[in-house]
Amino acid sequence: MKPAPFAYHVPSALTEALAVLDELGEEGRVLAGGQSLVPLMNFRLAQPTHLVDINRLDELDYIRRDDGVLAIGARARQSALERSQEARGAAPLLVEAVAQVAHPPVRHRGTVCGSVAHADPAAELPAALLALDAEVVASSRQGERRIPIHEFISGPFTTTLAPGELVREVRVPVSGAGSGYAFAEFSPRHGDFAVSGAAVLLQLEAGRVERASVALCGVAGMPVRAAGAEQSLRGARGSEEELEAAAAAAVEGLTPSADLHGGSAYRRRIARVCVRRAINLAFSRARGGA
Ligand SMILES: Cc1cc2nc3c(=O)[nH]c(=O)nc-3n(C[C@H](O)[C@H](O)[C@H](O)COP(=O)(O)OP(=O)(O)OC[C@H]3O[C@@H](n4cnc5c(N)ncnc54)[C@H](O)[C@@H]3O)c2cc1C
Repeated sequence: MKPAPFAYHVPSALTEALAVLDELGEEGRVLAGGQSLVPLMNFRLAQPTHLVDINRLDELDYIRRDDGVLAIGARARQSALERSQEARGAAPLLVEAVAQVAHPPVRHRGTVCGSVAHADPAAELPAALLALDAEVVASSRQGERRIPIHEFISGPFTTTLAPGELVREVRVPVSGAGSGYAFAEFSPRHGDFAVSGAAVLLQLEAGRVERASVALCGVAGMPVRAAGAEQSLRGARGSEEELEAAAAAAVEGLTPSADLHGGSAYRRRIARVCVRRAINLAFSRARGGA
């Protein structure tokens, strides 16, 4: 199928893009990498009347570390994040997560901010960003606001972005020295969307967990923080029993929807295994392992 007719706007500066979006209000839709939006349009599941293409906004093509934060601009491709040495040093969890998104051709085009704005509950990047306590910078003609990612994503494919706004940047606090991280997921075929995945960040102090962040994708209508697991990990040294207890706590109370990839109990089981694997690897990395 082909998309329904639409008007196409190609601004060459951010101020111009914001002016166009301001004028269009509810009618305006940002086009970034097009890896989610274009298929939806081709199936007529999305029928925007005005597309605002941000691919000429070179000023938003950056990944940089600045004052304890890794900032990723709206034009930065997922493949740029994957290759960025700066990102690998500042937020290795995010780099591990992005490598598991789709296939290289999709990552060459798809953007980090586009994945966040799209808010697919099964997507890797929003879950990793949730574990990392990232912030979303929303820009409009009226100014900017910073939104914690847990307030930005409000439901399946739904965010708190207002008409006239675009996601200009995602800001990720730099992970502390001595922290351990891992992103583990399971998908039936390499490159497919994951049945479920887990993002884990551990901060150890004298061999014990001082702070734990655990976030899951694919188990609810949006990425979720596993507060029970985080609590259970506090003070843990990484024994088998502690890992099992944390993994069980992570999925307690979750009732994932069934779909053609599996039932609710199956998804829960997969999530539990992913959490356990990710915690195990995060411990090993925090202690200086690979
Ligand atoms: C074959 C295939 C496999 C895939 N597999 C995976 C996978 O395993 N995991 C995964 O997470 N994703 C997967 N994707 C999706 C891919 O990661 C997309 O790149 C991503 O979800 C959206 O990024 P984009 O830049 O392409 O956004 P677009 O498709 O351009 O836009 C998506 C939505 O976000 C909005 N948007 C984009 N950028 C902004 C912005 N800066 N401000 C405001 N709104 C914005 C658009 O208006 C639109 O509503 C897959 C895609 C394909 C085609």
